[in-house]
Amino acid sequence: MSSNYETLNKHGLDIRKIRAEFPILHQQVNGKPLVYFDNAATTQKPLRVIEALTDYYSGYNANIHRGIHTLAEKATSAFEESRRAVKEFMNAPEAEEIIFTYGTTDGINLIASTFGRANIGEGDEIIISSMEHHSNIVPWQMLCEETGAKLKIIPINDRGEIVFEAFEKMLSERTRLVSIVHISNSLGTINPVKAVIQKAHEYGAKVLIDGAQASAHIEIDMQDLDCDFYVFSMHKLFGPTGTGILYGKRPLLEAMPPFRGGGEMIKEVTFEKTTYNDIPYKFEAGTPNIGDVVAIKRALEFVEAYGKENISKYEDELLQYANERLQTIPSVKLIGTAQNKISVVSFIMEGIHHFDIGMMMDARGVALRTGHHCTQPLMDLFNIEGTVRASLSLYNTFEEIDIMVEGLKNIAERFK
Ligand code: PLP
Repeated sequence: MSSNYETLNKHGLDIRKIRAEFPILHQQVNGKPLVYFDNAATTQKPLRVIEALTDYYSGYNANIHRGIHTLAEKATSAFEESRRAVKEFMNAPEAEEIIFTYGTTDGINLIASTFGRANIGEGDEIIISSMEHHSNIVPWQMLCEETGAKLKIIPINDRGEIVFEAFEKMLSERTRLVSIVHISNSLGTINPVKAVIQKAHEYGAKVLIDGAQASAHIEIDMQDLDCDFYVFSMHKLFGPTGTGILYGKRPLLEAMPPFRGGGEMIKEVTFEKTTYNDIPYKFEAGTPNIGDVVAIKRALEFVEAYGKENISKYEDELLQYANERLQTIPSVKLIGTAQNKISVVSFIMEGIHHFDIGMMMDARGVALRTGHHCTQPLMDLFNIEGTVRASLSLYNTFEEIDIMVEGLKNIAERFK
């Protein structure tokens, strides 16, 4: 591979400068420099996000929307600035269509409990794919149990791509919702969601996109995609844990019943009757996670400072390099070889359990994910219990991939 200095300056990205923004990366783990390859589980946080939290709690912590004192106004305005920043980030038509949640799981459960209960009944159909995270399976199973609706599963091929023709055949006038992952967390497959949305709309079905893995790696544009709902978690996008985004088209959000009841989501309450607030507040009952939401703006600024296109190109090269290098180890078998994929490389090694690999790599300072990655049905399809997963981010380097591959080679030798 080219020298470290070259690899640190790619696609207009100065990786050394980017890494300098992440204090956590500069440490030794088990006596070795940390190689953090678990970005699909959660990304690390740049200093500007950490500082936003300190600034909020040391400068203007106050409850929002209801207070008229200076700190409350400052906190409210920072909170709402984050909403506008998210609107811009995902090119949503209106800021009111952005609802703050606790994460992807929370957003999907919100849609299942509100849109789902109001619009999906006995004999209706919900379509998901074979590569969904448990959080995009279980809420629909629960809804189906409650309503008598049916769950249909789009099959995948050996490379881990959805079989589009099979999806087309599944659609019918009974299809109410298609809920599909944008990028698979276990395989890295980028699904053709725009085509899925167009097709589903021909049948009058609504579409929810799980963007948990997409938001940090590729452009997400609500007006271009034309999806009905889009959800993601901020902690996978350099932001704080416990915050997430639900985008929904205004007419749908307005027609949906509320999710949780309580303060903030009401216009007027009497013991006889309650009228609900306008969107987005109708879906934001109680005191939200103010400090963390305020920090969202800084996380999005971080991504925008470097540019999604540059990030995607660099991560693509990292992925190609990881794929090539891993294939020099004869006992490695890649799981998920879609033509259109990004940032995730999943693999198994003949004769060695994935947990053992994870532990031996941790001893070398390399943080990899092992197991089923909350996609047990997908693992069943591949006839495996789990994989080792390296998931990459823009602060990772080619040199770190070399460290991983050398470690794996060593392990492979020992287990021959
Ligand atoms: N969907 C996908 C594709 C994911 O990768 C994840 C998390 O790994 C989730 C949903 C759930 O996200 P969260 O746990 O942040 O709610």
